[in-house]
Amino acid sequence: MNYQDFTKNIVEADDIVIFSHVNPDGDTLGSMVALYQIIKNNYKKEPVMVVAGDIPDIYKFLPDISKAVTFDKISKDKVFSLAIAIDIAAKDRMGMGTAIFDRAKVKMNIDHHKTNNGFGDYSLIRPEACSAGEILFDMFEELGLSINKEIADSLYTSIVTDTGGFRFENTTAKTFQIASKLVEYGVHAGEIARYCFESKPKPMVLLQANALMNAEFLENEKIAYTCITIADMAQLHAKEDYTEGIVGALRQIKTTEVAAVLKEVTSQSTKVSLRSKHVDVSKIAAAFNGGGHAFAAGCTIQKPIQIAKDKLIEEIKKYL
Ligand code: 5GP
Ligand code: MN
Repeated sequence: MNYQDFTKNIVEADDIVIFSHVNPDGDTLGSMVALYQIIKNNYKKEPVMVVAGDIPDIYKFLPDISKAVTFDKISKDKVFSLAIAIDIAAKDRMGMGTAIFDRAKVKMNIDHHKTNNGFGDYSLIRPEACSAGEILFDMFEELGLSINKEIADSLYTSIVTDTGGFRFENTTAKTFQIASKLVEYGVHAGEIARYCFESKPKPMVLLQANALMNAEFLENEKIAYTCITIADMAQLHAKEDYTEGIVGALRQIKTTEVAAVLKEVTSQSTKVSLRSKHVDVSKIAAAFNGGGHAFAAGCTIQKPIQIAKDKLIEEIKKYL
């Protein structure tokens, strides 16, 4: 897709829907609201924003995020003129929204995951971009669309969260150039960092402490993993998103090459988050029909957590 296709599709659309991914993070939510605002301000159309579940409390500061709806608020046979998937590594990552996306007359896919297969009629996949927000910033600038402080805040949130605060390997000179321009547009970097990194609910930090205390280490401590059960979550009244950050904490350990968090979703289904320093964990995730980035990937294994753990460890060992 070239940038003119973006404009043409928006201008021609009667109605527009934007999808963020399941287990929403700062990139998918920040870029969704940035897109919403750019379309509203420049093309005088108000897209519908769809979230696949609860919005984590830490991202509720994002401008207009309260306007986002869950898929069930959209009538069952609704056909949108244009559907945009943002930061969606694979089509099924829209969750129950996938069916609405599939029905749209024109489907657009804007993403930075190298495992994205280019689903949709128009796709803009740039794996070298640190975040979906970086892709949008380039496009908005190239198209001469005006970026106000709210849009800048949203794009900055995408970038600062997907780069782990400008620390991950995906942080490039370009990333800093864009961040610098966004600060010139009015972003208070310290304020956004406080919202994203220092506003966690107390049970979230306690769940992390618990999960780290229960961590296990294998292969000369190159593998660090922990299992979080439904009972663990219930004990701390934890919400779904409270597990975010735990896998990153396991990677912080000097010896860790591959960090994994296994989360019991049901008695037969386990969500896996993978992080690494050198190993391409998107390949490990792909072995279980998942995907992601080289150093941050995930999958869901349709097995009870203990069996999923054994299968995952076996796969990880092949890459050490
Ligand atoms: P997380 O561990 O934070 O859930 O995800 C890490 C990265 O892997 C994110 O970029 C996310 O989009 C991707 N990812 C997580 N789970 C899946 C999955 O089940 N399938 C695919 N294709 N990507 C995933
Ligand atoms: Mn992303």
